Amino acid sequence: MSNRASSQPSQPQGQETDMKFSEIVKVLEAIEATTQRTTMAKLLAHLLRKCPPQVIDKVIYFILGDLRPSWEGIELGVGERLTMRALSYASGIPLKQIEELYKKLGDLGEVAKRVIAMKQQKAAQQGTILAFLQSGKQVQRELTIGRVYDTLMQIAKATGEGAMDLKVKLLASLFSDAKPEEAKYIARFVVGRLRLGIADMTILDALATVFKVRREDLEKAYHVYPDLGYIAKLLAEKGPQALQEIKVTPGIPVQPMLAERLSSASEILAKLGGVALCEYKYDGERAQIHRTKDGKIKIFSRRLEDLTHAYPDVVKYVEEAIKAREYIVEGEIVCYDPDTGEFRPFQELMHRRRKHNITEAMKEYPVKLFLFDIIYVDGQDLTNLPLIDRRRRLVEVFTPTENVEIARWRILDSVEEVEKFFHEAISQECEGLVCKSVKMDAIYEMGSRGWLWIKYKRDYRSELTDTLDLVVVGAFYGRGRRAGKYGALLMAAYDPDTDMFYTVCKVGSGFTDEDLVKLQQLLEPYKIPHKHPRVVSKLEPDVWFVPAIVLEIVGAEITLSPLHTCAMNMVKPGFGLAIRFPRFTGRYRLDKKPEQATTVKEIYEMYLRQRKIKIAEAKA
Ligand code: ATP
Repeated sequence: MSNRASSQPSQPQGQETDMKFSEIVKVLEAIEATTQRTTMAKLLAHLLRKCPPQVIDKVIYFILGDLRPSWEGIELGVGERLTMRALSYASGIPLKQIEELYKKLGDLGEVAKRVIAMKQQKAAQQGTILAFLQSGKQVQRELTIGRVYDTLMQIAKATGEGAMDLKVKLLASLFSDAKPEEAKYIARFVVGRLRLGIADMTILDALATVFKVRREDLEKAYHVYPDLGYIAKLLAEKGPQALQEIKVTPGIPVQPMLAERLSSASEILAKLGGVALCEYKYDGERAQIHRTKDGKIKIFSRRLEDLTHAYPDVVKYVEEAIKAREYIVEGEIVCYDPDTGEFRPFQELMHRRRKHNITEAMKEYPVKLFLFDIIYVDGQDLTNLPLIDRRRRLVEVFTPTENVEIARWRILDSVEEVEKFFHEAISQECEGLVCKSVKMDAIYEMGSRGWLWIKYKRDYRSELTDTLDLVVVGAFYGRGRRAGKYGALLMAAYDPDTDMFYTVCKVGSGFTDEDLVKLQQLLEPYKIPHKHPRVVSKLEPDVWFVPAIVLEIVGAEITLSPLHTCAMNMVKPGFGLAIRFPRFTGRYRLDKKPEQATTVKEIYEMYLRQRKIKIAEAKA
């Protein structure tokens, strides 16, 4: 068997248009070793500053662990087994031996590093290197990011008959030329476990520093066109003024507008100026639906994944219901019981996420779509129009059908009416209401959680605190029945201003035995030997994780705590905020990125509201 796979992409070489892969690897190693967010940011900025414009996008995609923005849905289609086969192919070391090593080390990156080191040692012993050098040939071609990226892209594109073999060969071609530490990151990338914990916001910070652009301008562009590789390349090639070229475009998802929360109808009406467009808050999956000029429909999730394959029925429904050439609309996809017509809870929709047997899933889990906004129609960006005008446009292009309706809504100006409508929504299996501003400045604010939309949910009323979506950043081993498993998880809230995660509770209840097993599996790839640089914690858990997994937590109340770092010093010097009696609700928020978790500011505001209620109760 040849050590070098035959198919090698031809890549631009040289320092100006490409970058040595080893330079990137050096920075990744340093990032992995640091526990300081500032060091991580400096290292990133240093790397991006050195990147030639031709490959800056490739570098960014690589460190984010993707080949393209995630909404393009490009998958490598390479699993652990295939990676091990490629390693065996490149090194001549038997697959069995590699598999054993994997069992022992549990990290394919480390396996790749060792296997390639072993290969090099063997080659040195056999004098191959010397022989090659003497004959004037090079044993290895130094890897560049251009070549690594383009080869990975070829791997992703390989489909059909013989695709697996081709993928193995292409990957082996990279391993053949990789140094051990380069092989480590390539292997981790291909199995989706780069786990550097670098988020889009972290990259945005670095880009703002490197290209001297205002963070707000950059963020605005990113909300309209969430593709960091594209934005970085635009900046590197054309300079900051090119950001103005970025426009809302059907086919490219925009960052969705989000809602704030309040716990009473009177507060909501007061906040919205006495009148609001109140809508049912359906308990489903948010869908941003695009129709491009060429008639293609695409459906994006709340975290901007392409979900079109999961909802072929919705594609058909919108084609029937919306009459416009090009558009972007938003709505909630809700699952219903075909026998009773009643809505089913959000979790049931996860059955639609499968790759195969979609037709079956469509029958078992039929859905309806409730539209609530329109962002773009036939060449016109509507994001700067007030909600009332957007609604008018939506009604103009839309005809109700059996499966598509406009979210049930009313314009209300009295607390009693809002309360009544809220109860009506609850009785219809909805979560409550989303109350929206009808003022002239109520534009569609991409990517921001503001007071133009306010959610009013049932949980706010029954418990002192609403459910929170928190990020797992650490774990403590259990005892007794939970020996060997995680007994409690260290949970954190997100702060978009600092791009850091602050701990807010240790949660040990609400987990079933199945949850404990599932969590262990879910968290395993994110284990790291030290605190992640984007986590601020006073507690030292037994295991640290890269912030990645979001869980829904409910608690009895929010209290001051010297142990937790969430909202530290904001209420009282030396104290942060903590959730008392936290419990896992059973809801895995895998539809949320860690940066979409509940924010420190939200928890702080909940605390203030709770305190206000307590004071009012004490007075009453
Ligand atoms: P939650 O965890 O409460 O669902 P979230 O953080 O996912 O909230 P929010 O923006 O805070 O998102 O709440 C609004 C969500 O409610 C939207 O993302 C959407 O999925 C859903 N929703 C249901 N009905 C409506 C509606 N009529 N208008 C807007 N959003 C709606």
